[in-house]
Amino acid sequence: MIRNVLVVNSGSSSLKFTVYDMEGEKKLASGLVERIGGATGANMVYRKGTGPKTEKPVQARDHAEALQLVCAALVDPESGVLASLSDVDAIGHRVLHGADRFKDSVLLTPETLASVRELIPFGPLHMPANIGGVEACEKIFPGVPNVAVFDTAFHATMPECAARYAIPDELRVKYGFRKYGFHGTSHKFVTLATAEFLGKPVDQVNLVTCHLGNGSSLAAVKNGKVYDTTMGLTPLAGVVMGTRSGDIDPAVVVELARKGMSADEIDTLLNKKSGLLGVGGIDSGDMRDIVNAAESGNESASLALDMWAHRIVQYIGAYFTLIGGADAIVFTGGIGENSRQARARVLSRLACLGVDFDEKANEEKSGPCFLTRPGSKVAAIVMPTDEELMIARDAYRIAREIG
Ligand code: ADP
Repeated sequence: MIRNVLVVNSGSSSLKFTVYDMEGEKKLASGLVERIGGATGANMVYRKGTGPKTEKPVQARDHAEALQLVCAALVDPESGVLASLSDVDAIGHRVLHGADRFKDSVLLTPETLASVRELIPFGPLHMPANIGGVEACEKIFPGVPNVAVFDTAFHATMPECAARYAIPDELRVKYGFRKYGFHGTSHKFVTLATAEFLGKPVDQVNLVTCHLGNGSSLAAVKNGKVYDTTMGLTPLAGVVMGTRSGDIDPAVVVELARKGMSADEIDTLLNKKSGLLGVGGIDSGDMRDIVNAAESGNESASLALDMWAHRIVQYIGAYFTLIGGADAIVFTGGIGENSRQARARVLSRLACLGVDFDEKANEEKSGPCFLTRPGSKVAAIVMPTDEELMIARDAYRIAREIG
């Protein structure tokens, strides 16, 4: 019987984990090992159920060692939640990129894992770490099904007119250049949760889902399926983010190359030094810092916030047109769930779409909740995301299918 599911999110220098009892979707334990392979040693955070977090320095030279530490904590007689490691029945892995070959989560067999490995060029930083997490689990949990859940998969329903770049098609064929989209697990979770919140079947909801965190993306969801999304071939495209530029004229990249910048330097500039960090003038791309600076009169921070909101409002308007109107605009992610100032910058500009913004609700309530008054033609909703639970559900579903 499949019951306990381990969710693993293996990043370049961290390994996050959650264990669920899928009967009742109860979170048994969660935490992370961070600074894996770091010169100063690693750090482990562990939380049993909804209890307090404990934190301790640990030695973890690689992801396999980090996973060993996680396993030891899970079966620890005092703080553990499992009698033995054989109580883990299935494992769900967050995987960055499924390109155009994985349109749903997949059971990892030698063949499918080899196919995932071929996609490393689509995510040279994240994919090797994602695969490393799978390999570590195969060793520690022999015979337990591993399921890959792709950040791109929920966007696979985009029509070609949304997904294609207007460049010669041989580049798509040769290099796979097209829009894939990211944060799919989050957009899917909030789509399902919002349909339930609105009391509508998911195949009858039209939404604009806004996942706003350090990395941010919007999705136009038509009849429960993605019609368009703001991120592209990589998570650099779309709205203004913490340290990423989002959309810019591609000629800027060409000019920077002509002026002597290397590909790696341009990559770092656009991914790590741009966005709120690049514009805000306060050496931080964190929304809390930007809002505080803007409120204390810093003009650069205020402009960064205006640019951030401008791009989101622009995409919301575009997506309403593309999908013929929406039932709701959904906010999620660290900023979407928590920053009332950032949300207000967006929601105060959407009256033309029929959004009757309730400032008081925005100040006082936390999600899931409405940010619009009753009777508003279009609802604005805060829906906390839960990517780990979405991954656990897919791993559970697929592990049960194979018996
Ligand atoms: P990531 O993309 O790294 O997962 P998160 O979803 O955790 O990012 O979002 C991080 C962003 O959320 C930061 O800009 C941070 O300022 C913002 N944020 C988190 N908590 C709050 C809060 N309580 N109030 C305002 N902003 C917040």
